[in-house]
This record gives sequence, structure tokens and C-alpha cells, in this order.
Amino acid sequence: MTDFYIARKKTRSVDVGGVLIGDGAPISVQSMLSVPLEEESRAIEQAHALLVAGCDIIRVAIPDADALDAFKRFRRAISAPIVADIHFDYRLAIGAAKAGADKLRINPGNIGSPERVRAVADAAKAAGIPIRIGVNAGSLPKSIANNTSPSPDILVDVARREIALLESHGFHDIVVSIKSHDPALTVLANRLFSNEFDIPLHIGVTEAGLPADASIKSAVGIGALVLEGIGDTVRVSITGDPVEEVLIAKAILRSCGAMPAGIEIVSCPTCGRTRVDVAKIAQEVADRLPKSEKHIVVAVMGCEVNGPGEARAADVGIAGGKGDFVTFKKGEVCGKISANEAVDWVLRAVQEILHK
Ligand code: SF4
Repeated sequence: MTDFYIARKKTRSVDVGGVLIGDGAPISVQSMLSVPLEEESRAIEQAHALLVAGCDIIRVAIPDADALDAFKRFRRAISAPIVADIHFDYRLAIGAAKAGADKLRINPGNIGSPERVRAVADAAKAAGIPIRIGVNAGSLPKSIANNTSPSPDILVDVARREIALLESHGFHDIVVSIKSHDPALTVLANRLFSNEFDIPLHIGVTEAGLPADASIKSAVGIGALVLEGIGDTVRVSITGDPVEEVLIAKAILRSCGAMPAGIEIVSCPTCGRTRVDVAKIAQEVADRLPKSEKHIVVAVMGCEVNGPGEARAADVGIAGGKGDFVTFKKGEVCGKISANEAVDWVLRAVQEILHK
């Protein structure tokens, strides 16, 4: 994790069920259920799995009246902040606001007439909840999509119009997202938006693909923005298990120095000098590490070239030799252990830090 301080762009604060977004609050992690709400026990199980993984805010799709019914029961079962994702039918948005959603995600542009947008804004205001305007390069208003391909200017222009629509109804409790499957377009559009508005930004690269591609695209897009101080809440989008989205989001934030908690593993790629099984030991350490509210760096290194330096700089470090490791805690050499003892030694040392 970087020790350099990244100045966050100043944004307004929005409260999503007790989790603050914007105005310097820690960047929250969101994900979305892939299970329909009507499959009640599976939906609740997935929500719990997301929360255990470290998700701060859970989004659910409410495409119809059955889903809204199921949402009412889901709301009672899950106390964490929930965002109701609604398109086209303004009555579902009003129903979700009344049923206890902590935020609505809509596109005012596809909700319909100004009266319907006003009705949704009024319902959100009455419930005291914010609205996220989600601008997505893949679902721009037809009048724009038919004439041109998305550019940063166009995406920001769409956001500007949607904000104006809500603000014309006196509604200002807004979060905006501007997403594309293209990380560069996502970065440029969010940068442009951030220069003009102090509205908090939900950032992410959308439709990013299968886990390997999605991780890289998200790291590029989200990482570039966070390192510029842009972004107040994130969602990684992958085709796969949403728990992975949370883990990847946290890894990206941690790499940017924007995740104050958690254990970070520094391990070398190994080379012809390696005489200990770094990959196996690092993997076993990763699999058995406890959760941590503190930020702890653990280094598992292969040899004396970069090993002692990294291990010394870490909170807990081991640097390989010929079948053994030199051990370090907080920059001090502790001694030598055999490769077989390495995993247990590292885990004990981490526990000591956690319980200090
Ligand atoms: Fe190779 Fe040593 Fe560097 Fe690991 S630390 S990659 S073993 S030189």
C-alpha cells in the first residue's frame, strides 16, 4: 500500500442507510445480487456472503411487482444498506422507497414524463433516501445512441441532463455513476464530470467480462480514478460470483492505498535463485489469514536479493534461503525457521499484531 497521501476530490456527503458516500468518507464497496429476489432464501444467502466478504452496500434489481413484493421481505431480513435498482416503471421506484430501500438507482431519462420523475423524487425525499443516476454507455437515450458513439463529453452531457431533471424537482440528494466497458472512456468521463460537479461519484467499469479480464479492466479504470482522488464508492462488475466483485474491489482499493483495513501480501515472482516453495507458502498464508481491521503487510520472499528488504519493510516478513527462511517482525530480524514452519510462523506473527 502506498504511503503517499492522495488528495480526494471534494464532494457532497450522501447517506445510504448509515454508510456515508462522499466528503472524504472511506470509499465504500458495493455489489449486486445475481440471484432474483423472488428466490428468497438464495437471495438472503448471497447477501450474507457479500457482507461477510466486506461489501458495504448491496444492490438488488426490482424489475417487476413480484420482485417488489419479495423486496419487502428481503428488506426485513437484511439490515445492511440496500439500493433498489429500477428501470422504466416509476411505480416500482416509489414502492421500493416506501418499502425501506436506502437508495434508488434509476435513470430519470427512462422513468418517463417529468411528472413521473417528480413522483419518484418526492418518494425518495419523503423516505429521506438518495438517488443514484446511472449513466451507462450501453444504454444511452435513443436520440443520442442512434446518432453517435459514446464519448466522455456525451456521457457527461447525459449525466448533466439527468441531474438537471432531478434538481428541477428540488431533489439534490444525488450520486452519479458514468460507466462504460472501456476503462479509458470511463476514466476520461469521470474525470470530466469530477471537474464540473461536487456530486459524489459511484465508479466502476461496467460489463467488464469474466473474472480475469474484469479484474484487470476494473483495476485500470477504478485504480486510475482513485489514484487521482476521484470516486466515493465502487462497484466491480464481473460475469460470475458477486463475492468476487467485493474481493477484487477491496484489492484494488488496497493497491491504491484507499483501504485502511486488511492484510496485504507482498510476494516475489520467484526465479532461478529460489530454493523454497514461495508460491505454495504464500497461497497457504493467504488462505489462512484472518480478517483484519488493521492494515498489515506480510512479505513472503524467495531469496536474499530482494527478500530481506521487502521482509524488513513489511509488518511480518520471511526471506527464503536454501530450504529455510530468515524471519522479520516490524523491521527486526527474529531468527531462522525451516520452510515447513513458515506458514504457521507467519500466521502466529500476524495474530500477535492483531491482538496488540
Ligand atoms: Fe528471485 Fe529472489 Fe527476486 Fe524472488 S526475491 S524473484 S527469488 S531474486
